[in-house]
Amino acid sequence: MRLIDTHTHLDFPEFDADRAAVLAQSQKLGIEQMVVLGVDQGHWQRLWQLVEASECLHAALGLHPVYLNSHHPAHIEALRHWLERLAGHPRLCAVGEFGLDYFLEQLDRQRQQELFEAQLQLAVEFDLPALLHVRRAHAATIATLKRIRPPRGGIIHAFAGSLEEAREYIRLGFRLGLGGAATWPQANRLRRVVAALPLEAIVLETDAPDMAPAMHPHQRNSPQFLPDICRELAALRDMSPQALAEASSRNAEVLFRWR
Ligand SMILES: [Zn+2]
Repeated sequence: MRLIDTHTHLDFPEFDADRAAVLAQSQKLGIEQMVVLGVDQGHWQRLWQLVEASECLHAALGLHPVYLNSHHPAHIEALRHWLERLAGHPRLCAVGEFGLDYFLEQLDRQRQQELFEAQLQLAVEFDLPALLHVRRAHAATIATLKRIRPPRGGIIHAFAGSLEEAREYIRLGFRLGLGGAATWPQANRLRRVVAALPLEAIVLETDAPDMAPAMHPHQRNSPQFLPDICRELAALRDMSPQALAEASSRNAEVLFRWR
């Protein structure tokens, strides 16, 4: 089974003690490529060094809404400089992680919206996919994407919306990132949505170190768990794990232009 983990934070300190072992073990399990997403300006350099040092890693750079209070308007300019400097580099694969988070009520929505739109503009300008974090903000995200639409689309990471919202994103050229959330038996609504999504729209992810799947509860999440996640999601869809692995990997490769 070959897999692509389209959403990881392998640069986070949770992996400092054993990052090389995690990468080696993941590759042994068939995880051919992993995307590492930057969340704030202060960590892009470290992330890029990590990605450059390992053939199986690709970078996305962005300003994550959860860290809103550490972002400044100048960081958008800094992001533009990074994207200019790395334009066409095969290991830079997207703008992200960015988006809208209405779940955390202390995050100012107007400032989130400004950062969201500025980064969407960069995805348009540099012709890159947009890797989006969307929590309780699907209506606002869809409305914004209808105004500012990155031509290469992107991924709604850790998708947990409705089937109708999924259809809207697909029409806008986006894929849905699925991971640990739908492996939990109590996630009934999401599990029904996962079963009904068109196969062409699905990419797999872990969001490691967060969002541990049900079969590895209360652990640090890792790309190593992606085969288990794939098996569980495939069972929900009544298909073989191999078929889901192959289709989702192909979807990711098309999106990122890796083949
Ligand atoms: Zn993330």
